Amino acid sequence: MMSAETSGGAVLSRELRDADGTVRCDAVELLRGSLRRRGIPMVEHDRIDTRTGSLTVYSSPVKGVDDVALFAGASAEVREQVRQSVMEWTSVSRARTVLLASPRAFCAGVERAIEIVERALEHRDNPVYVRKQIVHNTYVVDDLARRGATFVEELDEVPDGATVVFSAHGVSPAVRREAARRKLDVIDGTCPLVAKVHSEAKRFAARGDTIVLIGHHGHEEVEGTMGEAPESTVLVETPEDVHALEPADASRVSYLTQTTLAVDETRDVVAALRDKFPQLREPPTDDICYATTNRQDALRAVIEESDLVLVVGSANSSNSVRLVEMSLRMGTPAHLIDSAMDIEPHWLAGATTIGLTAGASAPPVLVRQVVSALGGLGPVTVEERTVTRETIHFGLPAAASRRRSP
Ligand code: SF4
Repeated sequence: MMSAETSGGAVLSRELRDADGTVRCDAVELLRGSLRRRGIPMVEHDRIDTRTGSLTVYSSPVKGVDDVALFAGASAEVREQVRQSVMEWTSVSRARTVLLASPRAFCAGVERAIEIVERALEHRDNPVYVRKQIVHNTYVVDDLARRGATFVEELDEVPDGATVVFSAHGVSPAVRREAARRKLDVIDGTCPLVAKVHSEAKRFAARGDTIVLIGHHGHEEVEGTMGEAPESTVLVETPEDVHALEPADASRVSYLTQTTLAVDETRDVVAALRDKFPQLREPPTDDICYATTNRQDALRAVIEESDLVLVVGSANSSNSVRLVEMSLRMGTPAHLIDSAMDIEPHWLAGATTIGLTAGASAPPVLVRQVVSALGGLGPVTVEERTVTRETIHFGLPAAASRRRSP
């Protein structure tokens, strides 16, 4: 480990021990984020004892700048940057209420996909490759990579005959054919609710329909679904896209949606489709999945009371981004954060009530970390607002736990 003496930067710790006892530094993640944005090198220790020497020490900003002691080896510039960062957090220290939207965080499809990789790592002696991010979350992917999974973008990065897991977002038939040709040991992490949309695409194409897929260009789920019937499928994102459609037979048009769209925005696109194609054939049930709908309903229930909304999720997580957009449409400032480290001090100025949620691919532990970090800025009252309880669970494919035959 790099020592404090060689870092020339800040030393961060969750616990600070001095002559008066031990202080917990719950806001350390917030400060770490600030220092990272400023490009300050950091070393982290579980605990710092200020009696043992001259260290760059950060303690809770609530206690004030005077509690920051600077390591003698740190440059004057680093010391000034640390001081400014601590001042910024100190200036937004206050008591707050956190409204926890529920349901939030992991959905059943994400839990299943992660467990598939975990089982594969446990049961396979050979390397386990995962095509694309298993779910769209940086923390989850980094954690599984640390535990041995190898993430690749395409199958040509996977050796012939090796084990490969398909992500929760699904793959096109062309990818499945390529995997079969290469005799790969495939474990399919596709969420059953995405697989349902694939089945509908096949069925609609077989009866000769033009399929209008409502979704976002370039998203992996969209690429997989379009791959089921590429000749028959057109992608639309907005009502304007619908107006421009010119199918071969306007009486044979059906539609499908990506599972993670905003319910209210999709309603407008479907209305435009119904308007333009009176004989539109609709999917038997809504393709926007229960988890996406529930997380939007839960956040909607706290937005108006909140001064600020924080959505834990990664930038490529469609359902997380939709939550931020929904809050902004309803007039409440909102930010997408991968973790507490991404929170910026000026967001919290004047914000006494914070709505907090997490997209379906974000782990609950990151939500707890945000609450804990905010607690480092002053007392936090947490109110959980539950709009519905989720009981859905998907079983694992047998291949996930099967040992490979030699
Ligand atoms: S968000 Fe919905 S479709 Fe996507 S993995 Fe979760 S349950 Fe499945």
